[in-house]
Amino acid sequence: MGVHSAAEQVLAGLDPEQRTAVTAPAGPVCVLAGAGTGKTRAVTSRIAHRALTGAISPRHVLAVTFTARAAAEMRARLTALGVAGVQARTFHAAALRQMRYFAPRLLHGRALPELLDSKVRLVTLAAARAGLRTDRAAARDLAGEIEWAKSSLVEPGEYVVAAAKAQRDTPHEPAKVAEVFAAYETVKRANGVIDFEDLLRAAVWGIEEHPDVAEQIRAQYRHFVVDEYQDVNPLQQRLLDAWLGGRDDLTVVGDASQTIYSFTGATSAYLVDFPRRHRGATVVRLVRDYRSTPQVVGLANAVIAQARGSEARLRLELVGQRPTGPEPELRIFTDEPTEATAVATRCRQLVAAGTPAREIAVLFRTNAQSEAYEKSLTEAGVPYVVQGAERFFERVEVRQAMVALRAATRSIPGETPLPAAVVEALAAVGWAPDAPPAGGAVRERWEALAALVQLAEEYAATPPVLPIGEGAAVERPVTLAAFTEELHRRAAQQHVPTVDGVTLASLHSAKGLEWDAVFLVGLAEGTLPTGYAKTPEQVEEERRLLYVGITRARQWLWLSYASARSPGGRNRRPSRFLPQLDRTGGSERAGAGPVPRAERRRNVVVSCRICGATLLAGGDRKLGRCPTCPSDVDEDLLERLRDWRQRVAGTQRVPAYVVFTDATLTALAERRPGRPEELIAIAGIGPRKLGLYGESVLALVGGATVDAICPKESLENPS
Ligand code: ATP
Ligand code: MG
Repeated sequence: MGVHSAAEQVLAGLDPEQRTAVTAPAGPVCVLAGAGTGKTRAVTSRIAHRALTGAISPRHVLAVTFTARAAAEMRARLTALGVAGVQARTFHAAALRQMRYFAPRLLHGRALPELLDSKVRLVTLAAARAGLRTDRAAARDLAGEIEWAKSSLVEPGEYVVAAAKAQRDTPHEPAKVAEVFAAYETVKRANGVIDFEDLLRAAVWGIEEHPDVAEQIRAQYRHFVVDEYQDVNPLQQRLLDAWLGGRDDLTVVGDASQTIYSFTGATSAYLVDFPRRHRGATVVRLVRDYRSTPQVVGLANAVIAQARGSEARLRLELVGQRPTGPEPELRIFTDEPTEATAVATRCRQLVAAGTPAREIAVLFRTNAQSEAYEKSLTEAGVPYVVQGAERFFERVEVRQAMVALRAATRSIPGETPLPAAVVEALAAVGWAPDAPPAGGAVRERWEALAALVQLAEEYAATPPVLPIGEGAAVERPVTLAAFTEELHRRAAQQHVPTVDGVTLASLHSAKGLEWDAVFLVGLAEGTLPTGYAKTPEQVEEERRLLYVGITRARQWLWLSYASARSPGGRNRRPSRFLPQLDRTGGSERAGAGPVPRAERRRNVVVSCRICGATLLAGGDRKLGRCPTCPSDVDEDLLERLRDWRQRVAGTQRVPAYVVFTDATLTALAERRPGRPEELIAIAGIGPRKLGLYGESVLALVGGATVDAICPKESLENPS
């Protein structure tokens, strides 16, 4: 394919507004748009289009985002568009790389100090110096406060004023927090370590105070892209400004309704003010949601419609573009283990029905919720991957496998097909194609190595992608040696292959990603919103978290919570953010405000007789089971009941549903009640209907024909 047709191909996959963003001339571009509208697609396409038309070199692009997985996603999309060599990283990873490189020069030959991955231990020491005894939770609160201050460019001496201005809900007297903050800085320096904010500050300092470093970095990076720009904090913005050095080839994309890191100092103000800060910027708004079904989009709109505050002013109503899909399911369980078991069962059903496990995610508010799901998925035999767990290429077995592969390039004959050669090489580290039972460390290890085999298969199957801007195009040989090279290259870039398992992740880390099926679990007051959310702003951020979660789903969405943590435990209320999904079973009623009185009386608990979940939707309650639980309906009986209903309705000159609704008929045909007590237990049948129709229905269940119960004549002759 010629370079120009490849560029045209990129444009062909876009709508007119996206195309405006992609083809805008060099200079500031801002895409303000809702979830799933193709923001990430637009920025990656802009990079690809500019690279493929020769306007820029991919090596001069720095694309930043906020999670490692989102950065990996950007790299994967760029590769798919045929562009190699772009740096796509988190702010931290980009700063770390630059500082490692420049440390010898900036620190007079010393290496970069060790990076702290948690502040908690040193904060505990610092608090003790300030006369505070702290447990882990208290130390975590203080650490969070210090992180906010440092990300907001606030020094210990400025903390008291800054905290008051920002109306911080401080864990202690502000002066005390400032004292702990100052002590923390001292303790940290004494330990010879730096934290994540120090790393970003060092990068800023390196550029701002060292013209030679600035010049080198700015010569390297000339075109900047920031995805998820609504979550940038003042420190990161300062680094971005330092990279730019007054230049303006910057594309930002974001959605204020997805601001979920303001507790760490992030603010959507930079996104919102971008057009003012950059006069003449190309500003694009997108509303078509390409990711999710109209059902999921409807719920997302309903949830965010309730939002208040500054982020809410910019929200746009999403318009679903995909075909109709299933209604989101809202389920209540008695306790968390039951909830986790039901989720695992449903995951297994989805996988059995053909949804790959890697296209399923279970998302929760806090990492501590993960364990119950690890356990239930293990029991259900469903493979899973815990996000935020060890990085793929850093896993011991993967490193061993890479060594084995390299050794095998010398021993395995060159003509062996690549996948077979990889399987043979992995035998050296004890891997065999038969999967051990799901769950547990052994399976996890097997899955990681299976991912390497899968990569080899993909490598052998896809035609070579010609790197653009990296010199002449080269033929790519499909050999074990070439593949091993490719793996090492990927490891260097942290290009993680997808391990086939259900993703277990926090809502925060799910940002920017998407799955066919998404389970949002633990949606109870105290968990979402977390009990720590006290101010209206904090509560709004929790609402946006739910919005982020909902908008991750392409097709299936499940929302659930457990009334109690453990069996027999204290009762909890459902999350205040959940709209009333029930009744009509349609999302058109979602978010319609308070529950009308007539519907409140229906708070009698009805459980699914197959899985035990509490049923909320009117139709499901009548059915007596979740619409997705296996049905055991007696089709012949249902047919006869329908016939009978039609005749009765005709006789009485009323619509059929006045006699019995479809849901009641289905429930009758499933449960086949033999006695009046069983009849009246079915939702939709009260004493009156029992008196009117009980005898007929019991006869039909007993096998009677419709003609025997209500002869045809009665239709013509209603007297
Ligand atoms: P988020 O706010 O969650 O980060 P986003 O706005 O970045 O979402 P993308 O991830 O870029 O959205 O796109 C969502 C999905 O829609 C992706 O699967 C993408 O490939 C698809 N998509 C985007 N634009 C189009 C389009 N014009 N035609 C078809 N599919 C599209
Ligand atoms: Mg995105």
